[in-house]
Amino acid sequence: MTSTEPVTGRPLRIGIGGIGIESSTFCPHRSTTDDFRQTRGQELLDRYAWTREDSDLTCLGGPVEWVPLLHATSLPGGTVEAESYLTLKDELVTRIRRAGPLDGLVYDIHGAMSVVGLTDAEADLTEAVRAALDFVGTPDGAADRGGRPMISAAMDLHGNVSRRFAAPVDLLTAHRLAPHEDAWETRERAARNLVRCLREGRRPHRAWVQVPVLLPGEKTSTRLEPAKSLYASLAGIEKLPGILDAALWVGYAWADEPRCRAAVVVTGDDPGLAAAEAERLARRYWEARRDFVFVGPTGGADECIEKAVASDKRPFLISDSGDNPTAGGAGDLAYMLARLLANDAIRSGRVTALHPGITDPVAVARCFAAGVGAEVTLSVGGKVDTGHGGPYELTGTVEALQRATDQKDRAEGGAYDRGVDTAAVRVGGLTLILVAHRKPFHTLADFTGPADGGLNIDPRTYDVVVVKIGYLEPELYDMAADWLLALTPGGVDQDLERLGHHRVERPLYPFDEDAYEEGAGPDLTAVHLPPLAP
Ligand SMILES: [Zn+2]
Repeated sequence: MTSTEPVTGRPLRIGIGGIGIESSTFCPHRSTTDDFRQTRGQELLDRYAWTREDSDLTCLGGPVEWVPLLHATSLPGGTVEAESYLTLKDELVTRIRRAGPLDGLVYDIHGAMSVVGLTDAEADLTEAVRAALDFVGTPDGAADRGGRPMISAAMDLHGNVSRRFAAPVDLLTAHRLAPHEDAWETRERAARNLVRCLREGRRPHRAWVQVPVLLPGEKTSTRLEPAKSLYASLAGIEKLPGILDAALWVGYAWADEPRCRAAVVVTGDDPGLAAAEAERLARRYWEARRDFVFVGPTGGADECIEKAVASDKRPFLISDSGDNPTAGGAGDLAYMLARLLANDAIRSGRVTALHPGITDPVAVARCFAAGVGAEVTLSVGGKVDTGHGGPYELTGTVEALQRATDQKDRAEGGAYDRGVDTAAVRVGGLTLILVAHRKPFHTLADFTGPADGGLNIDPRTYDVVVVKIGYLEPELYDMAADWLLALTPGGVDQDLERLGHHRVERPLYPFDEDAYEEGAGPDLTAVHLPPLAP
């Protein structure tokens, strides 16, 4: 148990802020401040329904004054440019230092940010955030006199949790569903745990353990076993007396950094029980490592296209998984485009196909210059990620155009999805959707666009739909009559061994399948991170 005074009789002052991106070090794209949706002030608070005055959380044991700092979130992408990272970090830290005394911080981050020149960006950021919080102290006093603000991190389960990152964070929790349908619940849980600890005077112990297993998200969806049961068990662990939260991270497979691997953190007042539960969960994860399978049937690009063409299930969806922008892919590979147009049934128009989301600002501008109905000859994609076939030359007809300004920015579930100039071009039976900036196509609205001036493309009317995505997000999942996960090349290749990690700590599954004798395994003893002294 802990030794801090409960905060009673006055409102709590809790900051909210963080920087979130998932960035692939195998993707040549570079993320900059421009890729981040930045919110401050009331706009930041509006992200979190529980900051409203009438929410039960804001009234839990007394009122809370929520202090908006800086929140920055980006669509996944390539490594963040150092200067962009420093600009965002500096603003977050400066805003904490200017906020005045704080009881705590709801730290809304992803956990898989890669920055040029750093190997553990979240640890770097968190150390700076911790120093700034200790500088401001709490309304009851300075950090060295018992007034040390608490940090409660809300993370994506695809984040990485190094010891250096976890040590200065009082509370850590992560999503329990993939796809992340619980993203807002995670943030609320982080806020609730923080308020509870402050009101009850608790500074929890943390049991931390990493599991030397690195798996892609497409093998760890919680729609399937063994991830389903592993994640479902967290709620039960959390209910044990003396435990406050249990979290399991799959880690991020497409960064080549020593910290990349699965991790478990169990938080609570009972350090012995927290350690036992963390170790039990880590052991279960390790033992299940070979049971994780792709969320659906997989195949090479041509194999998937042939099966889809021959099928009577419509629409038949195919994931172009190696170039998925929402995992960090460049989103500009023309690899699948080339394979689609190499298929006679599609090229001749006997079978219709839709392929949205190749990023190419020059090709989009040429389509706008030509206008709807015009014939255009384009060199499409392959300009950012040049390693997988380069641009693809085609001649087609401009079918539809949509201006960025006609679309509303969306920032749901944490990712930043903005309006972009978009052009649809038809070649034979294929309709190709080109975008001027990286953009996912995950919902029906992404295809149709706004009622006024939209693309008005309905993916349900095509025979085959090839999306740059991994596992299907809910609306695509519901519309797919059948589906294949194509194991295509790119910055987020599902075949990890094909990518060539050099800097991850070894041994690591699946790279070192034979590192342990039968019946033996890695040391999964939990490290006790004691309560951060108030
Ligand atoms: Zn994720």
